[in-house]
Amino acid sequence: MTEWGLFLVLFLALFIGWVLGRRRSPKALKEELKQVPSDYFRGLNHLLKGQQSEAIDAFVDSLEVNSETFDIHLTLGNLFRKKGEIQKAINIHQSLLARPDLSARDTRLVQLELASDFMSAGLLDRAERLLLNVATRKTEFQKEILALLVDLYEFEQSWDKAIKIAEQLQLEFPTKKQAQRLAHFHCELAQDAVKGDRWTVAFQEYKAAISADLDCVRATIGLADVYIHQGRFRDAIKELKAVADQDHEFLPVVITKIKECYRKVWGSGGYIKFLQDQLAKHPSATLIKALAEHYAEDDKEFAEQFIIDQLKAHPTIQGFQELIDMQRADSKGHDEENLSVLYELIEQLITSKPKYRCRQCGFSGHQLHWQCPSCKSWGSVKPIHGLEGE
Ligand SMILES: [Zn+2]
Repeated sequence: MTEWGLFLVLFLALFIGWVLGRRRSPKALKEELKQVPSDYFRGLNHLLKGQQSEAIDAFVDSLEVNSETFDIHLTLGNLFRKKGEIQKAINIHQSLLARPDLSARDTRLVQLELASDFMSAGLLDRAERLLLNVATRKTEFQKEILALLVDLYEFEQSWDKAIKIAEQLQLEFPTKKQAQRLAHFHCELAQDAVKGDRWTVAFQEYKAAISADLDCVRATIGLADVYIHQGRFRDAIKELKAVADQDHEFLPVVITKIKECYRKVWGSGGYIKFLQDQLAKHPSATLIKALAEHYAEDDKEFAEQFIIDQLKAHPTIQGFQELIDMQRADSKGHDEENLSVLYELIEQLITSKPKYRCRQCGFSGHQLHWQCPSCKSWGSVKPIHGLEGE
């Protein structure tokens, strides 16, 4: 049912309930029908003419605010907000708040809804003031109030404030999703610190992120970056390899860094062993390419055969391109020209395809975003796997 349909059903149900609830004689009922607010009939008239928006306005006007219609007004206000008609939602919630006989519980409930209206309208200062005011007393809506405050500070990118409230929320109502979010708030602070060359702060914030969420890949990569900056390549390798255990889908993102770190300290032995182990568990185009490049340094034929075998088991366009690249290097004249054209065409195809996709909403793009630009969820954008990806 559409939201408009829900509006209408609400009002018709209310009206029918009102009439049936009277249990009067036909004559008395006729008299009482005369008392039905004229706005109600105005609403029906609009409805019959197909003017849904006007009908809703008239119905809202006809509905007196009292204890019996409180929930309906609250629902209506929320529906208006979801529909994007924020001013109507604000009006309804403010008229509810103006009621002198509103209980303390209902007052806080309406304030919560009004804060949501203000946030939707971009009136963040008013929303913050209202929420902080309601949050001073512990209520049954504590979870919703704290969650809204976290949303608000996240939107404002006030990471310190967001962390403070998110920690309180996590302490009282722990969830994995909230822990992930809290970790990313720390990562945002760490990222700012890196930009300002404040590496000690960055280290502390990445550590705090890991404390909040042990599976935070972003913090692990961030910590590795701090170690690389400090020349602690062994520690960086340890962190980067841990990404495979946290979420192997992110492995393609760290392969180049792992290779560079190994080169600085131990050469390629441990690196190749790591790649081989991971390939057996979680094959990807980046792993195949990295291993093929290494094999090609000693034995090109072996490297080509390795790619062919891998392509049979794990076909990807990137793997195919790597194979063409190797064959192109061995060919001359006309063959080399043809292979170069083919290579460039595949390159264009790969460049035109998105590399990352949000597992929550399906948003895709060429860059790795730690917060999905579309659905705003944290850590849900990951490398694309399959024929056109990894
Ligand atoms: Zn998304």
